[in-house]
Amino acid sequence: MDQKKKCRPKGLMERLHDGETVICAEGYLFVFERRGYLTAGSFVPEVVLEHPELVRQQYEEFVHAGSDVVLAFTYYAHREKMALIGREDDLERINKHALRMAREVADQTGTLMAGNISNTNIFLDSVPNYREKIWQIFKEQIEWAVEAGADFIVAETFPHFGEALMAVKACKEFAKDIPCVVTLSAVHCQVNGKPATVDDVDIVDAFNKLAEAGADVVGLNCSRGPATMLPILEEAIKDCKAPLAAVPVMYRTTNEEPSFISSKDPLTGEPLFPVNLDCIQCNRKDIHDFGKRVQELGIKYVGLCCGNSAHLTRSLAESLGRKPPASRYSADLNKHWLLGHDDKLPLLEQESKTKYTLRLTKVE
Ligand SMILES: [Zn+2]
Repeated sequence: MDQKKKCRPKGLMERLHDGETVICAEGYLFVFERRGYLTAGSFVPEVVLEHPELVRQQYEEFVHAGSDVVLAFTYYAHREKMALIGREDDLERINKHALRMAREVADQTGTLMAGNISNTNIFLDSVPNYREKIWQIFKEQIEWAVEAGADFIVAETFPHFGEALMAVKACKEFAKDIPCVVTLSAVHCQVNGKPATVDDVDIVDAFNKLAEAGADVVGLNCSRGPATMLPILEEAIKDCKAPLAAVPVMYRTTNEEPSFISSKDPLTGEPLFPVNLDCIQCNRKDIHDFGKRVQELGIKYVGLCCGNSAHLTRSLAESLGRKPPASRYSADLNKHWLLGHDDKLPLLEQESKTKYTLRLTKVE
């Protein structure tokens, strides 16, 4: 046991206190939807049971690309969602399986493993006994994460402050001394002209109340892309009493359409959420710039949510000066036949290169 403890990597809070940045790659739900192993709509991670080898591989791929954390893919593997697809009987199995694989990959790669709870979508007065139901959902998922040896808990994507506060209390009750990262999902609500949760709590006030209740890291995840998430965090960092988390979606959201739920196709004006968002996908430079900006702001817990892929995680890691294993294959355009100048490339006069480039790029 002691030997095992010694081998464990530095913990989340130690890293943050030492001024280190922690990268947490997320976005599994959208990854597997795109790959054809998960249904958009219900969005339940059945792939954990049907194709566990792919989930394990995705954990490994994100670490290869620079993630410091293996986030167990238990997002939406909760009682409400499993009942929705008639698989409530598989609830414990799916959670334990996702957690066990995450722990194994974290141990093999020297990274941290996080358990994951999330929005239940039933934090509504119209749902009978909704608070009791949500408490039970949080309790069982947190207890399974603790049992699996999670290094910390990620509680995320809460549009309601009230539900996020319940999540903090559940983490404190059932995960005891394990740190919790609690993030809100800011859509487009405002109170007095300032961003607010769906239940009308000013976002910065919400952060501080969650921190007072015991959240170790607070912030935003999902809904907003870097362009519309960062301005909120720039304000929050002035008054926030806990380390901040920035975990945007990988889409180009705008002031007019601040959340990807409201995003429209720039060409046709049609709504894009959730399966046609590809045309506003962030590119690698967007994510590189995002990484530079969070570094300037001093935000130390950084992740990528829906729309994430390994190449974007690598861009984030490299923007922070890292060289994850995947950097061995980062672009080396000096060896490109047209763009590069490597000695080993066939000799091509600059003049003919320029002419050829024009032939390739000019619209006639
Ligand atoms: Zn997301």
